[in-house]
Amino acid sequence: MIFEKWLVPDRMFGHYYEITPDMVRSMGRSVLLCDIDNTLATYDDPLPPAKLTEWIEKMRRSGISVAFVSNNNKERVELFNEPLGCVAFAEAGKPGTKFLAAACAQLGVTKEQAILLGDQLLTDCAAGKRFGIPAWIVPPIRDKKTLFFRFKRLLERPYLRRCRQIHDIKE
Ligand SMILES: [Mg+2]
Repeated sequence: MIFEKWLVPDRMFGHYYEITPDMVRSMGRSVLLCDIDNTLATYDDPLPPAKLTEWIEKMRRSGISVAFVSNNNKERVELFNEPLGCVAFAEAGKPGTKFLAAACAQLGVTKEQAILLGDQLLTDCAAGKRFGIPAWIVPPIRDKKTLFFRFKRLLERPYLRRCRQIHDIKE
């Protein structure tokens, strides 16, 4: 089923900072295309938290590039990225793949070098899978409590379960 193909992540982590340069390298890859909101920071963090800056520095020192591909607006993404200076795209329209390709192009790599990191299956994971790269997913740092967001989580549930089954992860 097409949904299963797009919505089951390749790997799940408890938090982005559990991901090490070695994990990325062991996949033969050198670029993390990251969602921002609820993956790396909350909606309430206009600037990157210190822990995230350290993590990105650690990646950089190991030759791993972190780029941002966000569906949020330009203002949000530019301000957030100002102290980091990463390759960054706003209003990316994930699950569309156009800006994943743009980020790879700007970094001068092919998609075979990239991994997608996000918190949402319907946008992030689907974008990564459609683009043909591994999709790594973390639980949202802090969910918005709106009905719409709750509905999306409900839709995601069977696919998260499927990923746990495939990789034999205990719930
Ligand atoms: Mg997100």
